[in-house]
Amino acid sequence: FFRAIENAGIHLNRPQIQAVRHGKGPLLTLAGAGCGKTTVLAARAGYLMAMRDVPASSILLVTFTSKAAAEMKLRIAGLPGVRPSAARAVQARTFHSFALAMLRHRGVQDEVFGETQAQHTVMKMMLRQLGLSEAFQPESLLSALSAWKAEGRSADELPETIREEADAKRAMLAYETWKRERNKMDFDDILLRASALLRDPDVLQPLQRRFSYIMVDEFQDTNALQYDMVQRLAARHRNLMVVGDDDQTIYTFNGARQESILEFDKVYKDAKVITLDINYRSDARILGLGSNIVAKNVHRRSKRLAAAGREGLPPQFATPSGPEEEAEHIVTHLLQQVEEGRLQYRDIAILHRTASGSRSIFEQLIMRDVPFIQYGAGAVFYDQSLIRPLMDHLRLSLNPRRMESIPSTLGPLYVSREAGMEWIMREEKQQAKKYPLIHLSRWDRLRDFQREQVKERIRLIRSLATMKPAYAIQEMRRVFYDKYLESGDTGAWTHYKETMQESLEELETAAKRFDTVEAFVSFADELSERHRQMESLRREEDSDAVRLMTIHRAKGLEFPCVYWIGASEGILPHSSALHSELPEDRRAGAAPATAVDNEAALEEERRLAYVAVTRAKELLYITSPASNHGKPAAVSRFLLEAYGVTPEASKPETRRSSFGQPKVSGYGSRSGGGATASGTATRVSSRPGSASAATTARTTSATARSQTEPRVNVPVWKCTDAACKAWMR
Ligand code: ATP
Ligand code: MG
Repeated sequence: FFRAIENAGIHLNRPQIQAVRHGKGPLLTLAGAGCGKTTVLAARAGYLMAMRDVPASSILLVTFTSKAAAEMKLRIAGLPGVRPSAARAVQARTFHSFALAMLRHRGVQDEVFGETQAQHTVMKMMLRQLGLSEAFQPESLLSALSAWKAEGRSADELPETIREEADAKRAMLAYETWKRERNKMDFDDILLRASALLRDPDVLQPLQRRFSYIMVDEFQDTNALQYDMVQRLAARHRNLMVVGDDDQTIYTFNGARQESILEFDKVYKDAKVITLDINYRSDARILGLGSNIVAKNVHRRSKRLAAAGREGLPPQFATPSGPEEEAEHIVTHLLQQVEEGRLQYRDIAILHRTASGSRSIFEQLIMRDVPFIQYGAGAVFYDQSLIRPLMDHLRLSLNPRRMESIPSTLGPLYVSREAGMEWIMREEKQQAKKYPLIHLSRWDRLRDFQREQVKERIRLIRSLATMKPAYAIQEMRRVFYDKYLESGDTGAWTHYKETMQESLEELETAAKRFDTVEAFVSFADELSERHRQMESLRREEDSDAVRLMTIHRAKGLEFPCVYWIGASEGILPHSSALHSELPEDRRAGAAPATAVDNEAALEEERRLAYVAVTRAKELLYITSPASNHGKPAAVSRFLLEAYGVTPEASKPETRRSSFGQPKVSGYGSRSGGGATASGTATRVSSRPGSASAATTARTTSATARSQTEPRVNVPVWKCTDAACKAWMR
């Protein structure tokens, strides 16, 4: 079996083979990024079938995404001695798809309501009915509800100490009722109901008998409900293999618990623990940076990794003045790499911390015709549900008779869109008005204060047209959101409010670039139009396109070239993890608990930085914008720590952009010694065979790369140790 795998080009190392051949009993495979955990999981499934005659249908393989599940099946099908039909019969599933299959088997007919878009639509509808459309973003309510339910709690138990909480809770309860009345269930319901079913021995026992081998990938991110399900299913055979990396727990906001993996061998006392410590993915210096970053965490099992990945370049850094310059130069740089034939678009991933953090780069990619796929985001920033109404107000200020923009102004007037529009259209037929919205003031369904509001809204719209766009945004923000945003600390909604605030700040930043509302609106419209034209590209899974995604989404993936953008304080670590450090912070009164929370949040941010860095195989470009939303931002502490630079040395005010200098010194030379940050990762020589030939080929092209003089206007990427430290100051 192993020889056959070698013939196919993968020489598993000794602990990997040990894990693959592990027979019965619990097994924990703990390893850093890129050490072949997922590889081993697939190989073990193949081994059990080919060498131990385990029927495919007895194997349950749990992955984190459905894409990963599909890939897992492909990998297994490619293993020696595995018939294609057997590979298909392996249950490679996500927790959700497994839970759903179980519910179906038990005759639960409820329709799955799993499309994010469908959930949004319903949540939006509920908000509209309650007159709360512009007070809340449906996606944030949905994710808050989801995190709540992942703990096994129901929406009835949500706190409602202030009005906004009570309002949000009303919307969530309405959403839950809507589903129940129509026999529908969303992903969280699926998990909750499946977990409840597994408490019934009549359900549990046949499943326990059937799945004699259970394996879980990315175990560090399982939540309480999922872990409980696994434990129940495995209780009979106890052949439970979990693989993961405690340094990659990045979903605690969704209920993931790092303890599950840290304490696995305490819960299963007879568990065999196998650690893998050779990373086959990354250049030694890239891996070294990742290891140095995460080494600063206290809550972890420490690891020493050796690098066996292909040689590339040391991590490269640059300090643009802000996100716009960052985006501009990254796109210039990646286009150059592609034009010169060093990379294809599909080799490249751009990783960012938050959803709104991709706005600048997204615009650059679209406007410069770079084919790209954005994972996990449905819409152009300006079309997202929180932003759209503001843009529509701007559009109406330019053309008050733009009918398709009117509905989104109705929400905050506490008017139902459908009924409101119907009334407006009917009245328009009788007598057209310059501001069709004005018809509402004669609608008999409205109360007096609402009539007054209609007139006020029209006054607002009229005034917007001549304002500077950024000021117009501020003005609308003041009218629509400030009361809510300033309503103090709201417990369960803090995260939600932060996202909202971030999006609004991002919008204001975006608007600052334009002098007139007209210019801003036509830019946003062109962007949407171009985005629509790229639709077909997004539908093809493996099209030659750059991948743009959050770091969270990138988990488990790898790319020859990674751009990690926004490596600055306030972005990563995210401002939400830094709050309680500020002396003037409102929450300072709640000292001890907050201090602990903050430390935990910072550790999670550090893990995110580690995940970002370790996605890269050969090339890693890190940019740290010197400002964010118009405020100065220091280089991310995670980089300073890794390179041993004191934070005092890197004051944001003294930072200059490293872009746009007339003399471009080219890519840092590889003979520059790389960064000492890479000291942790020792290079191990690759086994003889095809791999080393590939390495040689790669090295040659890398040398060619370092000799190529980039054109002017390409960012200065620094890479030597001294250069890095200088750059960070
Ligand atoms: P992550 O923590 O990011 O999920 P992982 O531990 O699951 O990483 P894999 O994705 O399985 O790591 O492997 C990383 C890369 O190393 C893959 O490209 C894989 O093909 C390769 N690889 C794994 N084991 C070996 C090996 N023994 N020889 C050569 N390449 C290997
Ligand atoms: Mg993996």
